[in-house]
Amino acid sequence: MITVIGSINMDLVVDTTIFPKQGETVLGNRFETVPGGKGANQAVAAARLGGEIHMVGAVGQDGFGEELTANLSTEGIHTRFVATAQETATGIANILLYENDNRIIVVPGANGLVTEAEIDEARELIERSELVIMQLEIPQETVDYALRVCKEAGIPVLLNPAPAKNFKEEWMNNIAYLTPNETECEEIFHSEIEEALEKYPNRLIVTLGAAGARYYNGKEHVFIEGFKTKVVDTTGAGDTFNGALAYAITSGQPLKEAVRFANIAASLSVEKFGAQGGMPTLQMVEARLK
Ligand code: ATP
Repeated sequence: MITVIGSINMDLVVDTTIFPKQGETVLGNRFETVPGGKGANQAVAAARLGGEIHMVGAVGQDGFGEELTANLSTEGIHTRFVATAQETATGIANILLYENDNRIIVVPGANGLVTEAEIDEARELIERSELVIMQLEIPQETVDYALRVCKEAGIPVLLNPAPAKNFKEEWMNNIAYLTPNETECEEIFHSEIEEALEKYPNRLIVTLGAAGARYYNGKEHVFIEGFKTKVVDTTGAGDTFNGALAYAITSGQPLKEAVRFANIAASLSVEKFGAQGGMPTLQMVEARLK
């Protein structure tokens, strides 16, 4: 059983060919609301593969909150510890797709209210988990506290350090697996990727986009090649990788196989639109693994 402690957002996606100047109103091409937030996305990725997933987070008392909680339930995710914040709106990401220049404003809203109290409330669940997944879209103090709770209970944590500016290197003492992309890895460790990997053997897994992922096994650097495919939308590739890696690890796969499994799952996710749209089932991953 996996517990995900993290963000739940509604992505508000506007596609436009005209970019408004100051004070101007223009007509866009398309608008869509798409469930997102790294926490929810990673929970969905792991649940689609068949994992028993519990979500700890918060939404506002509004339509988006209801829709997002229902979406998690539809995916088979337990939402008992998704709190409804009374005076704050559900978190949103305002995504403007304009030529190749995507502009995104995230308003954390209720995600900012995931506090130590929520962790305490879910403590019994957390302590029963085989693995806890976190990202950095909830307050730093909450991540800090949850890491300590997990450490005390001996529960391994997979932390996806995004956004990287919220990461503290001292947390490495309480983290079983850290999964930055290359840019995040450099931002966190202020060193060459090789050097960081050698400092944290079998624990630091760096994703390399289409090229796959790498880690250091204590003797040598291990590269697991990505699966080449036709890309429709890479949004959520990282989230699929994390959810799938967590699922594979808790299923008892050794790290090398688990990373390969996560690469395959993420390659399937980029073939469809939206963060959660392309997240695969176990059968789909197994078919590609053959
Ligand atoms: P995101 O775009 O979701 O923010 P990220 O920056 O966190 O992703 P990446 O390293 O870009 O992370 O991608 C995560 C994983 O997704 C990779 O390790 C790989 O397995 C898979 N992946 C990403 N892009 C592609 C691609 N174009 N083709 C196949 N697999 C891909």
